[in-house]
Amino acid sequence: MSLPPLVEPADELTIDEVRRYSRHLIIPEVGMAGQKRLKNSKVLVIGAGGLGSPALLYLAAAGVGTLGIVEFDTVDESNLQRQIIHGQSDVGKSKAQSAKESILETNPNTNVVLHETRLDNDNVFEIFEQYDLIVDGTDNFATRYLVNDAAVLLGKPYVWGSIFRFDGQVSVFWAEHGPCYRCLYPEPPPPGMVPSCAEGGVLGVLCASVGAAQVTEAIKLLTGIGDPSLGRLNIYEALDLNWRTLKVRKDPNCAICGENPTVTELIDYESFCGALTEEAADAAVGSTISVKQLSEWIKLKDNGEKDFVLIDVREPNEYEINKIPGSVLIPKADFQTGVALEKLPQDKQLVFHCKSGVRSAEVLAIAKGAGFSDAVHVGGGVVAWVDQIDPSQPSY
Ligand SMILES: [Zn+2]
Repeated sequence: MSLPPLVEPADELTIDEVRRYSRHLIIPEVGMAGQKRLKNSKVLVIGAGGLGSPALLYLAAAGVGTLGIVEFDTVDESNLQRQIIHGQSDVGKSKAQSAKESILETNPNTNVVLHETRLDNDNVFEIFEQYDLIVDGTDNFATRYLVNDAAVLLGKPYVWGSIFRFDGQVSVFWAEHGPCYRCLYPEPPPPGMVPSCAEGGVLGVLCASVGAAQVTEAIKLLTGIGDPSLGRLNIYEALDLNWRTLKVRKDPNCAICGENPTVTELIDYESFCGALTEEAADAAVGSTISVKQLSEWIKLKDNGEKDFVLIDVREPNEYEINKIPGSVLIPKADFQTGVALEKLPQDKQLVFHCKSGVRSAEVLAIAKGAGFSDAVHVGGGVVAWVDQIDPSQPSY
């Protein structure tokens, strides 16, 4: 299904612009009219991270006139493996500022608008209203549902992408002409089921494949060229170098774009997506210690004044990166299968930790259920440990 162009053409291109975009202008389907439409386009990119980096650079290079960036984070060294819009000298700098500098170096004609804030229910409409199209490069479910719902309620199209390890997904959602994200994924996955890239990793170059596909869809929508991927979920598998396409139908029972919507305004997305399962959250109440407390406990243990077993429930490859001294590694899966429970000492207090405190809270719930009632877990995990106690170790 082809759609009319989203954007009217600008009045004219300058001589410099004609020179700059000549390889576009000689494509018959783009031509002068298409390039003028890009010049008049206002595109919002959410996140200047893995997907946002290639997306922003190519949108700018293509001649999109106005680029908005929603980003509140700062550049970290662990970003540079994939977030190519930032460089070594940007570490510690605002990602939005760093992205703006790279964009202007690529194309000084771009009007870059920074929204250095966390997207939330209070600002999402005001920000979205300023743009023709949204490119979603977020990495968490709460923001994805917020983006979807705000886009549906405003009638805006958006290009969605996601990445994990070697696989990516891309689709176009626009409730007026096809399905929305909730039609495809009516409910977020149970907390802890789907690891984030921070927890599970991502092949850096995958961002280029998926981000470039998102920009291609954006250009098609803005200029009215080709067949935008509405109603199609495109799945990229890097290890097979393969794109598969699945049909996505508009769900008549969709909570927001269906016939009898139950979501008619923005909801509480954090609690909708839940950072922790109910069991894990219950188990963690009154049984969470800080890394500072853990550090005290370790000193007491060394003096023979306290006894406990510190168990790291991450994966072996994470344990190789950093660790809390004295910890033993027993991955979360061994608790879920029950294998680990048999190995645990019955006469010592158990202290669990993981990367950030999500997996360890789930394990805590299992251990408490198995009778280890005085077990605790470490809030913030090894990330907090490196941050607050031992900055000599690398974080990830
Ligand atoms: Zn829907």
